[in-house]
Formats: sequence, C-alpha cells, structure tokens
Amino acid sequence: MPHAYDPQNIFARILRGEIPNKTVLETAHTLAFHDIQPQAPVHVLVIPKGAYASYDHFAAEASDAEIVDFNRAVAEVCRLTGVDLGEGGQGFRAITNAGAHGVQEVPHYHLHILGGRPLGRMLARADS
Ligand code: AMP
Repeated sequence: MPHAYDPQNIFARILRGEIPNKTVLETAHTLAFHDIQPQAPVHVLVIPKGAYASYDHFAAEASDAEIVDFNRAVAEVCRLTGVDLGEGGQGFRAITNAGAHGVQEVPHYHLHILGGRPLGRMLARADS
C-alpha cells in the first residue's frame, strides 16, 4: 500500500512558514529545530523538507541526495548542540516514532536528537 501524507500536519505547516520554529539548521533538503516540549536539555527535531510521513516512507522513497543531506544535517546538529562524541560531547539518543505502535504524533518523518543529560534505558522494562 502506498504511504499516505497529510499536508496539513504541523511540520508541513512549519515548512510552509505558516508556524514559527526555533531553527537550529537549514539545508537544501532538511530542517532542524528545537522541540516545543523538550524532554532533555538538548531536544532537536530533524525533518526532511519532502513530504514523507515516516522513516520507512523516507527510507524507501527519498532521493539519494535527500538521504545524504538528512544524515549530514543530523551530524551537524549533533555538533552544533555539543552532543557529538567526535567533538568531545557526552553523546545523545536518536529516536524516530512511526505509526500507532510507535506512538507517532506528527505524521511527517522526524528524528528526535536528545542529549545533555544521561537518558536512562532506551525502553522501560515493562511486563506488558
Ligand atoms: P512524535 O511523537 O515522535 O510524533 O513527536 C512529535 C514531537 O513534535 C513532540 O516531541 C512535540 O513536542 C513536537 N512538536 C509538536 N508541535 C511542535 C512545534 N510546533 N514545534 C516544535 N515541536 C513540536
């Protein structure tokens, strides 16, 4: 089944300039901005400018140029926010949520870059 994309999602509106954002980095194919409800001292969202709903959509259908640009932007965001291990930072976590089981709230692919404090285990050891 083809991936669906809702052009009214909030990140699409940010990309159209309809809603402000606190930009960290903008490149040809990628935008990075601070999360509006940060869950760590560093909490930046990296999004492609293209209309991709989720990581699997992006990975399957984005052009090579978009994929390279996105990943280089992630590296630059890590450097700019001081979490980059190569720059002497203490590390970070990169998370993407997809769909209902991933508990994705905004249906435009985004990578969360979290850092600035120890982040604990990736997932709680829930029994359920
Ligand atoms: P997810 O659950 O992975 O879809 O995460 C969506 C994220 O988008 C949440 O961390 C929200 O705090 C964040 N968010 C929602 N609206 C905005 C906005 N206008 N600017 C920045 N971040 C936002």
